[in-house]
Amino acid sequence: MNLASASMSGSPGSSSTGTRPMKTQPQVLVVEDEAALTTLLQYNLEKEGYRVTTTADGEEAMMIVDEQQPDLVLLDWMLPSVTGIELARRLKRDETTNEIPIIMLTAKSEEDNKIQGLDAGADDYITKPFSTRELISRINAVLRRVPGHQHKAILVPGLALGPDRHPITADER
Ligand code: CA
Repeated sequence: MNLASASMSGSPGSSSTGTRPMKTQPQVLVVEDEAALTTLLQYNLEKEGYRVTTTADGEEAMMIVDEQQPDLVLLDWMLPSVTGIELARRLKRDETTNEIPIIMLTAKSEEDNKIQGLDAGADDYITKPFSTRELISRINAVLRRVPGHQHKAILVPGLALGPDRHPITADER
């Protein structure tokens, strides 16, 4: 019987009260007009612990960004009303939203489109079809990269460099 000793001399796991996540889970806004893909993304992201908001409409996406300030936007290139590129430009132009990381999703794989996407301010780029596992690791990587506000790294991912990122930083100093 050593119940007394457990309550008296600090038991090893006594700090467990502070381990509950105080901050809410990161929120990802998925802007995609293919319903099946949206569902798949939402399912997988929620499984990873993200909160997910989805929309198929570019204008609505702008409203959601303004209202909810998501931690990351997953943005399809081809959208019915406003293109993903245009949306990325708008988000990056507005100082209330320009720090929200953007990952572009696209079926286009040409070099030119990658450059356009990055020029428009996308933080990363993924070409369809992609594995959700790869996408999630990219999302995690982008979110890990954003603690500093004005760290403007130009990243050129996926240019046959393998899974490791080889960032080309234009203004490292
Ligand atoms: Ca689309």
